[in-house]
Amino acid sequence: MKAAIYQGERRMVVEDIPIPDPLPEEILIKVKYSAICGTDVHAFLYDIAPPGSVLGHEFSGVVSAMGKDVKGWAIGDRVIGGGGEPPSGFEQPLRKQEQYNYRLEGFTNTRKRGYAEYTVLNHWEPLEIPGNVTDLEACLTEPCSVAVRAIRLSNQRLGDTVVVLGAGPIGLLCLQAAKAAGAGNIIVSEPSETRRRVASELGADAVINPLREDVYASVMSLTEAVGPDVVYECAAAQPTLDDALNMVRKKGNVMLVALAWENIPLLPVDWAGKEVELKTTFGGEHQDWQIALNLISSGKINLNPLTSETYFVDIEEIEETFRALASPSDQVQMIVKF
Ligand SMILES: [Zn+2]
Repeated sequence: MKAAIYQGERRMVVEDIPIPDPLPEEILIKVKYSAICGTDVHAFLYDIAPPGSVLGHEFSGVVSAMGKDVKGWAIGDRVIGGGGEPPSGFEQPLRKQEQYNYRLEGFTNTRKRGYAEYTVLNHWEPLEIPGNVTDLEACLTEPCSVAVRAIRLSNQRLGDTVVVLGAGPIGLLCLQAAKAAGAGNIIVSEPSETRRRVASELGADAVINPLREDVYASVMSLTEAVGPDVVYECAAAQPTLDDALNMVRKKGNVMLVALAWENIPLLPVDWAGKEVELKTTFGGEHQDWQIALNLISSGKINLNPLTSETYFVDIEEIEETFRALASPSDQVQMIVKF
């Protein structure tokens, strides 16, 4: 089978390797769609993925073989590559370690293999795809779970004014999850014209182009100089966390959703007087995946505007795609199609 194997030093080479044999409690999945996540791009860009690893954690596919002890799955079942409830002892490391450091530990010993034709998972790991959700939509359940968790961990309340900074896939999903959770007024800031258009289609009440407008001033004028109740920082760009903390209203909540891999200068004296709450959120747990899937299935999260703007790439093109994604792009979503 073809697999994109990280070589170190920003090299990813597609090699032919044997199809893995599932252990007694594992299932073998034939991957259909594997979405390219910004986190993987960062792992590539900062050369943090271990050489020999196969990245990719946003995928859907079908069960094509099972270990002898697996029950509850059948060959041909449509599955999402994650989101199952971990039995005790199998929780993600970040849920167990007091000093979990994603940059240093998040990519050690990875066995995620979404950028390959086949991958194995423990039998409890995948979720079944509901009948009315396509395989293409299903591969985006993981980023949806990130958005769901961000909104559930926030202080957002019914009718709140929220700002989403950055309308990449995570920002567009946060916009929809915030709306589903009852946000009253949603303002989105995003430099890419395509992404701004998709944000409007998905129900943003106002969109700002940060390359043309002063984001802080625009948000202040749209919120009668009060500021938003909640800001979802989905950009991890140099000025956006600073903007978020400056614009949020007194006692408001800034949710740090995007992961910045470089230092961001902040001047706390400018906003500390507002008694702002800055909170982090990370990934999604089983419950978040299940809620995400329910929202997709019920149409409350609409993936059509994302998937209709998707650029499909062949596994052979993955290295050049990663290189292209390392610079700011206009693309909404890139997906490896098998
Ligand atoms: Zn991801």
